[in-house]
Amino acid sequence: MTLIPGSRLDFPFELMIRGPSEPPPDSWMYVFRGDRRLLVCKHGQHARIPTVAELDDLGVKRESQIPLGRLEGVPAFAAAATGDGSDPPAGLLFGDLRKLAMRLDEPSFWVGARAVQILEWDRDHRFCGRCGGATEDHGSDRAKVCRRCGLHFYPRLAPAVIVLVDRGDEVLLARAARFTSGFFSTLAGFVEAGESLEQAIVREIEEEVGIRVGNLRYFGSQPWPFPHSLMIGFRASWEAGELSPDPEEIAEAGWFRRDDLPIIPPSLSIARSLIDAWVAEEIC
Ligand SMILES: [Zn+2]
Repeated sequence: MTLIPGSRLDFPFELMIRGPSEPPPDSWMYVFRGDRRLLVCKHGQHARIPTVAELDDLGVKRESQIPLGRLEGVPAFAAAATGDGSDPPAGLLFGDLRKLAMRLDEPSFWVGARAVQILEWDRDHRFCGRCGGATEDHGSDRAKVCRRCGLHFYPRLAPAVIVLVDRGDEVLLARAARFTSGFFSTLAGFVEAGESLEQAIVREIEEEVGIRVGNLRYFGSQPWPFPHSLMIGFRASWEAGELSPDPEEIAEAGWFRRDDLPIIPPSLSIARSLIDAWVAEEIC
């Protein structure tokens, strides 16, 4: 079983839709500002999530407290910072969620990834998109229901395929036109309405680099909260065509050997897991 960050089956978290109206003092509280910055306690190079009691002692005000689940048995809640939250008390800081991946322990980070998506769903679905009526919590499901017309709103998830394409002992990697980071990664794209994952893979790769692939093999999945994706990883093999990248999407694409890889994505991503698994195959 390949280890993909955020995808462990033994993840120490139990989902909780309903919780106490007042979070217990020892609960973890994930407080976000509107720019997706998460409030954490500083510990040198490390950080941790504050408890309700700690935030209350420091007078940190918050709203929309939503139960998330239990992390190693301890309740965890999400909340929005009140005001602009720009000046937290000493010892606390608002950090970019993606950058905090290197400072938080792994379970805390992935619960934060849930928290930010649940908070944004809560904020963005206060009113019905069909009739304009106010919504209320469903009660037993993670859903909001329009009081007037009954339409349901669930947290939005955008499935995306991410694919490592091999050709003999080479792998296809590309540098995206929209990123300035400079690393080469596997190809990815969102699944269109009405499309299967397999159809999305063949279409995306043809659109992005002009080749045909086949021999699709499921690899694994990863929740990816930037902003609300579910990355579904596959392996595929080249079947036909020469690389002709779409300049709007791809700055550069090429076939690479294991001993001559370009700069690849950091270890947090499923893209890196796909590449690492492919690299390891030669050793086995
Ligand atoms: Zn409605």
